[in-house]
Amino acid sequence: MARYTGPVCKLCRREGMKLFLKGERCFTDKCAFERRPYPPGQHGQSRSKISEYGLQLREKQKVKRIYGLLENQFHNLFKKAERMRGVTGENLISLLERRLDNVVFRLGFASSRREARILITQGHFRVNGRKVNIPSYMIREGNTIEVAEKLKGGEKLKENLKSAERRGIPEWLSLNAGNLKGVVTRLPQRMDVTMPIEEHLIVELYSK
Ligand code: SF4
Repeated sequence: MARYTGPVCKLCRREGMKLFLKGERCFTDKCAFERRPYPPGQHGQSRSKISEYGLQLREKQKVKRIYGLLENQFHNLFKKAERMRGVTGENLISLLERRLDNVVFRLGFASSRREARILITQGHFRVNGRKVNIPSYMIREGNTIEVAEKLKGGEKLKENLKSAERRGIPEWLSLNAGNLKGVVTRLPQRMDVTMPIEEHLIVELYSK
């Protein structure tokens, strides 16, 4: 599975906002963006006018980085969103949210999507009772997501659940923290994502 392996805090600084890629650390004063809220590199602090294309490109990069996807994976998801009924940009956000790695993170079974991907590929989750080790697996309404026995009882999992409680579990998911099981009560919609995303810029970029 190809993935970005460089320094992740640089990605937040590049996009000019906190992307929350490092779990609990993002909420502490150790956050690199809190200390240096400007792009990395020699010219990071110099201001330059950004073109329309530049804005569209940055928005696409930002969303890709939030969800931890590489270009091909992201573009394929966009093409899928285009083929669906409804508004392409909104479909794209919904598809991104429906990825199993995102759902595992949202339920609080992992501290970040990155950690969720690792745990999923190691086989720590079951969907509807069956082991699924594909982070891009698309969940459906009514699916149950369960932590496998091996991971249960661990301190890290308890910490993750606590921080998810602070973040809040999205309305389209329900969590039973007692038996470490989540249910997809409905499919995610655009309004469920509160991060500032201007998906129309991504649609414009790919429509060129
Ligand atoms: Fe981004 Fe989190 Fe790093 Fe802060 S700590 S720069 S929010 S990844």
